[in-house]
Amino acid sequence: MIRIYNTLSKRKEEFIPLEEGKVRMYVCGPTVYNLIHIGNARPMIFFDTVRRYFEYRGYEVNFVSNFTDVDDKIIKKAIEEGVPAEEISQRYIAECKKDMEGMNIRPATTHPLATQEIDGMLDMISTLMEKGYAYEVNGTVYYRTRRFADYGKLSHKNLDELQGGNRALLVSGEDEKDDPLDFVLWKPKKEGEPYWTSPWSDGRPGWHIECSVMSKKYLGEQIDIHGGGEDLIFPHHENEIAQSEACSGKEFARYWMHNAFLNIDNHKMSKSLGNFFTVREISERYDLQVLRFFMLSAHYRSPLNFSAELMESSKSALGRILTAADNLRYIAEHAVRGTLNEEESAKLEEAGKLITQFETAMDDDFNTADAIAAVFDLVKYANTNASEGSGSLFASALLAQLQKLCDILGIITERKEELLDEDIENLIAERTAARKAKNFARADEIRAQLLEKGIILEDTREGVKWKRA
Ligand code: AMP
Ligand code: ZN
Repeated sequence: MIRIYNTLSKRKEEFIPLEEGKVRMYVCGPTVYNLIHIGNARPMIFFDTVRRYFEYRGYEVNFVSNFTDVDDKIIKKAIEEGVPAEEISQRYIAECKKDMEGMNIRPATTHPLATQEIDGMLDMISTLMEKGYAYEVNGTVYYRTRRFADYGKLSHKNLDELQGGNRALLVSGEDEKDDPLDFVLWKPKKEGEPYWTSPWSDGRPGWHIECSVMSKKYLGEQIDIHGGGEDLIFPHHENEIAQSEACSGKEFARYWMHNAFLNIDNHKMSKSLGNFFTVREISERYDLQVLRFFMLSAHYRSPLNFSAELMESSKSALGRILTAADNLRYIAEHAVRGTLNEEESAKLEEAGKLITQFETAMDDDFNTADAIAAVFDLVKYANTNASEGSGSLFASALLAQLQKLCDILGIITERKEELLDEDIENLIAERTAARKAKNFARADEIRAQLLEKGIILEDTREGVKWKRA
């Protein structure tokens, strides 16, 4: 039985899907105006792991995660660069997908784009107007928050608290709304902005309506799990509930899951604070598997502080897993085949208990920290029980167990041959030294070795430059 902490009820609940054997899951994706930072990577890595675990447990998972490709920040960047907004969003969607691949995050079943779903948004806004949940003022459409009786149920606040406590709700340019708590569903374009025609104005949708529409289109009116970072609880998810439930009259999502922040020096890592590292920057120093491992080493509802020390210890911890897998692989290939002896069978059964330990941790609200502890117990067990004297079958069975658990966490047990920037720089320095010493054979060898890995060297007056092919 899988139990999930539900932000809605503030407690762990047994997971019961709407439809047996199936999971419908929606996770809010990034706004694409820049390279993603490692704070954005936390929900991506975590929810990818949730999906993998459900699949391991035999569920068919329909996983939808959007790209917000129309937004003030995208428009601002497009104006700065003097290119269409679409060029910015397309570029950063492509870059985000590269980062996801590096972190071994599988593509979602569907990655909808807000700009491709405008018709659905117009429909939903019209329905909200017909039902009296929305009103128009001079081309802007607002959601009438006080009309939705359950408003505040996710963030556990009542309307007066929200209104009193949140000055940010008084957004400039939205002073025509009836109530400070009302939020925008549609807004008129400004000069030079992308726009779509609507019954109310030429303009574009608000952010919240996107997710209500995309989850409805790809998953249906009711979904099992809705996820995202905890900063989205209010107002984004609260507003999604207000929109979707007012429209359908049904409960929108059964389980609301929110990851805690990735912090740096105990502050939320964010673009606006400027205290971030992009995933791309990290990839220049580490294999992104290390980043993935680092993220999963903490429970998703605990804040996680990013530091160089923790990355280094994640690197060596991951290295221990890969070394154990290498050893098992070596034994499996080189030892005598034959059949499992009694002792080996008993040991495999013992190792199986660690699989159960892993499952128990994951069943308990996806406790990846404890699940990783079970993986290390298995690594230790393999290291002490498999040796060159072991049979091939025994080693390959242990390897299969280890691989199974690593697969759920999205950790690849084979070492990548890929060269990191640091290794490249070191080889280039060695080549320069070899040339100085007139050891041209070694210098050529290094050039050839780098070329084989797709690194092209160029000797210039300012020194050696390199690029990836
Ligand atoms: P954004 O592009 O800001 O809308 O963020 C995309 C996703 O990343 C959302 O689910 C955010 O909650 C999440 N997110 C942003 N910053 C962090 C952070 N520092 N730690 C964890 N999650 C974050
Ligand atoms: Zn959303």
